[in-house]
Amino acid sequence: MSLHAKRTDRRLADGRELFYYDDAASSPTQTRQSPDTRDLPPMPAGARMRRDPLTGEWVPLASHRMNRTHLPARADCPLCPTRSESPPSEVPASDYHVVVFENRFPSLNARQAESPGQVDGEAIWPERASDGRCEVVCFTSDHDSSFAALAPTRARTVIEAWADRSRELAAHPAVRSVFCFENRGEEIGVTLGHPHGQIYAYPYVPPRSAQHLVRAGEHYASTGRDLLGDVLDAEQRAARRVVLRGEHWTAYVPAAARWPVEVHVVPHRHVLDLAETDDAERDELAHLYPELLRTLDRFFEDDDGTPIELPYISGWFAAPTESAVPGRREEPRSLMRLHLQVFSVMRAPGKLKYLAGSESAQGAWVSDTTPEAIAQRLQALHPLAVGSA
Ligand SMILES: [Zn+2]
Repeated sequence: MSLHAKRTDRRLADGRELFYYDDAASSPTQTRQSPDTRDLPPMPAGARMRRDPLTGEWVPLASHRMNRTHLPARADCPLCPTRSESPPSEVPASDYHVVVFENRFPSLNARQAESPGQVDGEAIWPERASDGRCEVVCFTSDHDSSFAALAPTRARTVIEAWADRSRELAAHPAVRSVFCFENRGEEIGVTLGHPHGQIYAYPYVPPRSAQHLVRAGEHYASTGRDLLGDVLDAEQRAARRVVLRGEHWTAYVPAAARWPVEVHVVPHRHVLDLAETDDAERDELAHLYPELLRTLDRFFEDDDGTPIELPYISGWFAAPTESAVPGRREEPRSLMRLHLQVFSVMRAPGKLKYLAGSESAQGAWVSDTTPEAIAQRLQALHPLAVGSA
């Protein structure tokens, strides 16, 4: 699908790539050509990752991240445009619509070819370059805005940027999985207040996706059908956890939700990743997703009835890349279907769910509520959506 936005490619002072995505109907101005005038140290090279012999999971070592920017004063926000009254930011333009650039403090970043090795010369501890990539996606130049507040035109441009970056990063031979996500709220550990998300291009299939892939494969082997497609059908039949329903997407609280607030958004068509979504799907998503976020921002209220902005994590689960699962397009129904998971650690105003022994040590979840209670609250906030099939 052709890009429904205008992309301008630039380089930052330390060689990192930067891409402006401007709304389709607009004309990017000269400011997109502004050079990065900063004197930046070179990017750290040779990031490594080690495999945990007990779980088989890879653990990138990103020790340089200890020095990254933490909640800077507003005038020093590195994600705001560069304006004459402030020091230069990460974005040389004096304004932008949506911009994506390589993270200056990446968890995944090899930047030079290095051979695999072993920790302390022991074969049980494989170690290799964490040859992936971390990108930052600024949703708007407005420091005080949020994804929920984006107009559909701008939300569509963010979706275009996600889809375009997903396609390009997935084509990299080392990349096995691309994950577009947003952390919102200091409660989640966000270090920058500016509305932004991230994209991780992993050189391995991350654990949750690997689990999902195994389950999808088992389901396909026993039924010949697509796992998430069957889940979507069942949620639509049951209907009582559905919170928003469009022509191309349905949002529901999953029947076995783990978090105090959790919603999944699933496309009706079997698409593997964001790059495969079509015009109609992206258009509807540009309305439906901000609408969902606005509803979530009213989920909790303080004592005088003022809505509390929900801290959340929102992430796109896409099928692993072709280099991870050769021939994935020949038998796509046996694999993951694209979907979004949005959830919060907030369980009541001012109270967070802490991941304690069972969750943190064992990954074994105990829910503090019921999925039906979460859905009822969301349906009450958005009554038009209830049973609107
Ligand atoms: Zn900012």
